[in-house]
Amino acid sequence: MIEFSGDETLLQSTVRSFAEKSLKPKAEEIDKLEGFNEAAFRAMGPLGLLGITAKSEYGGSEMGCIAATIAMEELGRACASTTLSYLAHSILCVNNLHENASPEQKKRYLPKLITGECIGGMGMTEPGAGSDALGLATKAVKKGNKYILTGTKTFITNGPVADVFVVYARTGATKKDISTFIVEKTFPGFRLGKRLHKMGMRGSPTSELVFDECEVPVENLVGEENDSVAHMMKNLNIERITISGISLGIAGATLDYSLTYAQERTQFGKPIASFQMVQERLAEMATQRDAGRALVYAAGRAYDKGNREMDLGAKSKLFTAKMATVAALDGIQILGGYGYMKEHPVERYMRDAKLMEIGAGTNEVMRVIIAKKLLGEA
Ligand SMILES: Cc1cc2nc3c(=O)[nH]c(=O)nc-3n(C[C@H](O)[C@H](O)[C@H](O)COP(=O)(O)OP(=O)(O)OC[C@H]3O[C@@H](n4cnc5c(N)ncnc54)[C@H](O)[C@@H]3O)c2cc1C
Repeated sequence: MIEFSGDETLLQSTVRSFAEKSLKPKAEEIDKLEGFNEAAFRAMGPLGLLGITAKSEYGGSEMGCIAATIAMEELGRACASTTLSYLAHSILCVNNLHENASPEQKKRYLPKLITGECIGGMGMTEPGAGSDALGLATKAVKKGNKYILTGTKTFITNGPVADVFVVYARTGATKKDISTFIVEKTFPGFRLGKRLHKMGMRGSPTSELVFDECEVPVENLVGEENDSVAHMMKNLNIERITISGISLGIAGATLDYSLTYAQERTQFGKPIASFQMVQERLAEMATQRDAGRALVYAAGRAYDKGNREMDLGAKSKLFTAKMATVAALDGIQILGGYGYMKEHPVERYMRDAKLMEIGAGTNEVMRVIIAKKLLGEA
């Protein structure tokens, strides 16, 4: 139903076969053990996925938002956890630096992130500042040729495995006086805080980051001091469109699994797929997933053509996050008691899908953004 270009179609089939071979077989194990599929993650470098939106001079693939969303959907169908880590690396870190960093910073950091030699993450959220991201309290004070960062970030995807973080900190007195810093895990005063244990997305490591008078060289300030609110918002928009690909992937995996199961499972002497109430769930699932794809890929296409309206990401994420959770819950219902058991993947899909309604801004915050646009306040 969606028209992709030749390059996009090739990307879709390449990523699908990579995900089937390298992600899907490990998805259950990393969920159970709270592991990380590092080998597959690093293998996405040579495949051109880790710098999918970056220019070729840094090793990137020079593709756009649509391409990144296709990658998220195909990877997400096989293992949502690894895909969340991929999103944090390729969009929250690499795309952010590619859009906002200086040529010297890009030359220094992007090539290693794009080959997969280094892993990236992004620290915005704090214990006291989630939806109210501009309320962050981490402070950066300039002292000679360094900035001294003090504060704690929480819920940071890739925290335990990343080498480089894009970090937002307050550098002035007003709410909008926020600056961006590139922080390496080896910088003095940086340490990992608590590792966090999650309900879903358990194969994507999450932790706190602690900045205890962390010394960041002045050359690692991204852009100008007190000028990062625009970076933050711009990157959140592409993050919300591309993360919607993960919801589409989870819904697609649920549909495929439920459809096969419903045709194989017999009760009352017939496959349960012959019962109209089961058919209704399957039909709804397919329709909602396809509606989500139409919305998200239209938003991705608009983004690639230069549209930067914040409601593109908000509508995509709101619709697909709710859709994926409902699809996974319906998948469990179609499998009955087996759906509730860990021997089938649908209960994992449900736990993974729920994050989509929270991360990158909650459903409620998406509605606030959409309503602001409708009311002319954006
Ligand atoms: C697994 C996971 C990975 C994450 N990865 C990262 C990461 O890599 N980097 C990063 O910086 N952050 C990350 N986050 C943080 C994520 O973006 C925040 O959790 C999210 O923005 C919500 O913030 P909060 O959890 O503090 O909830 P709160 O902001 O405390 O919200 C609590 C409730 O209040 C509601 N609420 C808040 N404000 C409003 C409002 N104005 N109107 C209506 N309702 C409102 C919310 O919708 C929610 O229901 C991650 C989170 C999770 C769970």
